[in-house]
Amino acid sequence: MRSHYCGALRKEHVGQEITLCGWVHRRRDHGGVIFLDVRDRDGITQVVFDPDREESFATADSVRNEYVIQLTGIVRDRPEGTINKEMPTGEIEVLGHSLIVLNKAETPPFQLDEHQSVGEDIRLKYRYVDLRRPEMLAKLRLRSKITTAIRNHLDGEGFLDIETPILTRATPEGARDYLVPSRTHANNFFALPQSPQLFKQLLMVSGMDRYYQIAKCFRDEDLRADRQPEFTQIDIEASFVSEEDIMSITEGMIRNLFKETLDVDLGAFPRMPYSEAMEKYGSDKPDMRIPLELVDVADLMTEVEFKVFSGPAKDPKGRVTALRLPKGAELTRKQIDEYTKYVGIYGAKGLAYIKVNNKDDLEEGLQAPIVKFLPIDVRKAVLERTGAENGDIIFFGADSAKVVTEALGALRCKLGEDMDLYTCAWAPLWVVDFPMFEETSDGGLTAIHHPFTAPSCTPEELKANPAAALSKAYDMVLNGCELGGGSIRIHDQTMQQAVFEILGISEEEQAEKFGFLLDALKFGAPPHGGLAFGLDRLVMLMTGSDSIREVIAFPKTQSASCMMTDAPGEVSSKQLRELNIKLRKSATEE
Ligand code: ASP
Repeated sequence: MRSHYCGALRKEHVGQEITLCGWVHRRRDHGGVIFLDVRDRDGITQVVFDPDREESFATADSVRNEYVIQLTGIVRDRPEGTINKEMPTGEIEVLGHSLIVLNKAETPPFQLDEHQSVGEDIRLKYRYVDLRRPEMLAKLRLRSKITTAIRNHLDGEGFLDIETPILTRATPEGARDYLVPSRTHANNFFALPQSPQLFKQLLMVSGMDRYYQIAKCFRDEDLRADRQPEFTQIDIEASFVSEEDIMSITEGMIRNLFKETLDVDLGAFPRMPYSEAMEKYGSDKPDMRIPLELVDVADLMTEVEFKVFSGPAKDPKGRVTALRLPKGAELTRKQIDEYTKYVGIYGAKGLAYIKVNNKDDLEEGLQAPIVKFLPIDVRKAVLERTGAENGDIIFFGADSAKVVTEALGALRCKLGEDMDLYTCAWAPLWVVDFPMFEETSDGGLTAIHHPFTAPSCTPEELKANPAAALSKAYDMVLNGCELGGGSIRIHDQTMQQAVFEILGISEEEQAEKFGFLLDALKFGAPPHGGLAFGLDRLVMLMTGSDSIREVIAFPKTQSASCMMTDAPGEVSSKQLRELNIKLRKSATEE
């Protein structure tokens, strides 16, 4: 139906007769001549209709925004003075000869270039219109380029693309399952995979050696953060590998991807133990573009009268830490109040600070409500340890280690963003040496990655002191986002059972939920390991988008629904009967 894409026309096409198909982006009536900006996937071209071609002129006069048209015309140079350097097609225009309306369009719910004037819910309801915006198209185009580059890379490294089931049993990754009732097995349910974890491990047992899949995963979480109930992973697993092997394969893949698609050189990724990440940056995914560090000062505070500091300083589960912001003494009371509110989100009860006006005058040169509670030698030691200079501000966190780490880690990132402290555009790293487990609020243990992650010790050592055990897990972090995570897996049945036991999973439950895995481990399981990347987040970072919703064609809302299709929706009583399901009172009645 067409000879060219709209965005493809250039000076070299001048004089040619061409046919375009697309949408009317804008129509302008310039006293006697009609200009149509015609848009398709590739760009926009300006088409002029003169009144001397009566029929096409009348049609051009009748079209409205977003009408779908086909036109034939001659490419010509734009008249002197009307060249538009901003547009790739800005040196030419098309003199329209014929024009056919292929389909009319009602007035769209929003003008493409005025999408900001409507809420995101309207954009999501009419997503097909929203996706017509060139920015959205560019994002999905880059997404496609990224997945193609990854497929090519992994194919070149000998990885096989293998699909795993969507209707399956639960694979625990720390979220709730989405369940699907079975019609043929009354009262039984499938779970949608939280990840293909167990299947990819079974593929290793089966000898596939190297597997990858661009896989949909489903997690029914409370969508506080920028998460989606269904999202896409680049899922990878290989046999006879060490941590080093997986890290080098996947680091190479990401480096390659950035070079190929963005022409960015990421360099070699530094490595950081989990303990250092939490200590210095208050996060297991530290944003290394920000040159701020947490500095622990608990040892200086054990004897001070100020209980807010001395309490946590003496508590083995407490933490007292300082965060120095160079030139921060300029912050106003109002700004500090806002940061106090911000750390409150993470459970901090306040945000103590000292403004360093003159570090040589420990009596008068330090300004803060808390200064009077700190003996002179403590003031001096704090200044020295944090490396404070005149004009700086030092923030303090004092509470349980968990609250302080999270709150000051988040404050560090917030200050980095607000003050634009970034020292580089891209800061990748590996976080390694994760603990196997973390304590839950009820005192039990839960797996930091998932229960199939191998520890760095023997089953006996693990059982003797599970809380101290480290795992063979690694996370790839970029600009404060976890791009991907993985581990060497347990390939030994005794070790797997030891981990299940520590997690409080009884033998019956092990057999019921993971019997197939424990069986497989008995039938010749090779050492293996892998990693999965969050594709949506990767594309978000690479396109400079603010949310993963911007890089998913049809995303769900924060409350896990689809504005466009109105899913989830009610089903007929016939369907429910077939599924042997009887609903309780409707949600609104409860
Ligand atoms: N299955 C893990 C996840 O979804 C990734 C991995 O261990 O390979 O986070």
